[in-house]
Amino acid sequence: MLPRIPEIMRANDLIDLAFRRAAKESSLLTIRGVPRLIRTRKKEEKKVKVVARVIKKHLNKVLKAPRIEELPSFYQELVDIAIGIEKLKKSFGAVKWAVKKIDSLEKHYRYKIRTSQTEADASKYRREFYGRTASILRDISEEIDFLRDASRKLRSFPVVKDIFTIVIAGMPNVGKSTFLKAITTSKPKIESYPFTTKQILLGYFKRRYREYQVVDTPGLLDRPLEKRNPIEKQAILALKHLANVIIFIFDISETCGFTREEQLKVFKEISSLFKVKVIPVVNKADILDKEKIKEFEEKIGEKIFVCSALKKEGVENIIEEAIKE
Ligand code: GDP
Repeated sequence: MLPRIPEIMRANDLIDLAFRRAAKESSLLTIRGVPRLIRTRKKEEKKVKVVARVIKKHLNKVLKAPRIEELPSFYQELVDIAIGIEKLKKSFGAVKWAVKKIDSLEKHYRYKIRTSQTEADASKYRREFYGRTASILRDISEEIDFLRDASRKLRSFPVVKDIFTIVIAGMPNVGKSTFLKAITTSKPKIESYPFTTKQILLGYFKRRYREYQVVDTPGLLDRPLEKRNPIEKQAILALKHLANVIIFIFDISETCGFTREEQLKVFKEISSLFKVKVIPVVNKADILDKEKIKEFEEKIGEKIFVCSALKKEGVENIIEEAIKE
C-alpha cells in the first residue's frame, strides 16, 4: 500500500562493492592445464561478469519500485508535494539507462576479452570496462542521491489504508478527536506528513463486516484557507483524495472559542473545496438547549445531525449517514 523505493547505494559505494566482489570471485576461479592467455582471459571475463551482475542486480531492485501511476491518488499527491513526480520519473529513467548501458558494455567487453590476442590486451579491456562502468554510475550519481532521499522521505509517509474513509473537519476544540475516539474501536494511530509538522490521526471501525477508516487532521481542516501556507494547502489537497465523506463538527455552544459565523465560514469553504458529501454535525448536545439547535439548523438551511461525542450519544446515526451508499 505505502509506496516504497528499495534502499539504494551511493554510486561510489556500489562501484567499490562491485570491484571488490569481482576481485574476490575471480581469485577463487581455479583454471589449470590451459595456456596462460586463456587463463587470463577467463579471469578478466569473470571480473567483467561479476561487476555487471552486482551493479545490474542492485539497480534492477531499485527499478522494482511501484509505478507512480499505480499508487492510490492520495499518495501520488503526497509524492508530488514531498518529492516531485517529474524528477522522480527522470531519476528512475536515468537508472534504467545505466542498466541498459552497462549491459551492452558487458557484452561488448566480454567478447573483446574472449578474442584478445595477448594477456595485456585482455587486462586492458577489462580495465576499460571498469572505467566506463564507473563513469556511467558517476554520471547518474545525482539521480541516485535523489532517489536515496526520496526513499527516505517515502518511509516517513503516513500509512493509510485504501478503504472507505471518513475525514473529520471542524475548528479547534469542537470535539473532533473526542468524536473520532467515540466512533472507532482501536486507539487512534498517529502518523505525520513528511513535509509539515502536521499529524494525521487514524481510527478504524467495522460495520456489517466492512472496515472503515476515520481520519482527523489537527491543524489542517480547522481554520480558514486564507490562513494557510502553500504547503498546508497542498496537504489539504492531498486529503481530497482520501476523503469519501466529510463529517464537519460544529460547537454552537461556542465553548471552543469560535463563533458560529466563523465555523460556518470554514464549513462552506470545505464544502466547496471537497467534492464529497459533507455532513454537518452539532456536537456537545449535552450542554445545549433544543431551541439553539433548531435555530442553527434554520440558519444553515440543511439537515444537521446532533450528538454528544463525550457521552457517545447520537453518534450511531451519524455513522450510518456517513457510510450510506
Ligand atoms: P478537537 O480540538 O476538535 O479535537 O476537540 P477535542 O476532542 O480535543 O475536544 C475539545 C474539548 O471539548 C475537550 O475538553 C472535550 O472534552 C470537549 N468535548 C468534546 N466533545 C464534547 C461533548 O460532546 N460535550 C461536551 N460537553 N464537551 C465535549
